[in-house]
Order: sequence, then structure tokens, then C-alpha cells
Amino acid sequence: MTQKTRLKNLEDFGYGPNVMRNTKVCAKCGQVIKASASFCPDCGERLSSETLFDRYKRQHPCCPECDTVLAPDSLYCPHCGIKLKIK
Ligand SMILES: [Zn+2]
Ligand SMILES: [Zn+2]
Repeated sequence: MTQKTRLKNLEDFGYGPNVMRNTKVCAKCGQVIKASASFCPDCGERLSSETLFDRYKRQHPCCPECDTVLAPDSLYCPHCGIKLKIK
């Protein structure tokens, strides 16, 4: 249930996985921008191709099959059911 709770919380903040996949944050001014943008509309900083979801994935364990964010102690993915190899 941890998974669902965490996703729900993220969606409450407006950052569900689908939103995060389409969102970037300017490294310079912190402006939230659509992932399709190449430059920050606010400060003109060139944006990396890394979306908010990519950043989030670096900080949290994710299912290798379906990209669902997992609880740190998950043995199986709650979304696709794959058995996980957690080191
Ligand atoms: Zn900016
Ligand atoms: Zn999965």
C-alpha cells in the first residue's frame, strides 16, 4: 500500500508520474517548465533533457519493467508484478 500512498501524495502535489514525465525544472532559476522546452522561458538557461521524472527515478527505486516507483523494501512490483532484485 506504500506505493499507492506515495503516488497519491505526489498527485496531490500535482506531480503524478505522467505530469513529471512532461515536466522539467530549470537548474538555474527553479522554474517548472514543459519537458518539450529546450530553454527556460524565464531566464533563458539551456535545459538538459532530464525530466522531473528522471530526477525522481534517480532518487527512488523504480520497477525496471514499468517505471513504477517502488517502496524501498518492495519484493514485487505492485503494478506489473515482476519480482524485483533489490540489492
Ligand atoms: Zn530559468
Ligand atoms: Zn513494474
